[in-house]
Amino acid sequence: MTAKAKELAASLERMKNNSRVSGIIVIVDDTACPACQGVQGNYTLDEDIPTLPVEWCSCAGGCTARYQPFLNDIYP
Ligand SMILES: [Zn+2]
Repeated sequence: MTAKAKELAASLERMKNNSRVSGIIVIVDDTACPACQGVQGNYTLDEDIPTLPVEWCSCAGGCTARYQPFLNDIYP
C-alpha cells in the first residue's frame, strides 16, 4: 500500500467515525480517466465505498480522486 493509499484510507476512516458525517462523496477532476469518472458520486456509509486511489486509474498525472464528507448539518 502506498503512502497516498494509506492517507486516503485514514481520511475515509476519520469521516466514517464522525457522527456529523452522513455519507461520503468521491470527487474526481473533470479531466480524470474513465476509471476515476466511474467511481465519482455520493455514497452512504452502508454502501461499498470505492477504494482510492482507483485501481485501474490511467490518469496522466496519477489518480486525483478523493473523499469528501457529506455533513448532516448542511442537509438537515
Ligand atoms: Zn484516473
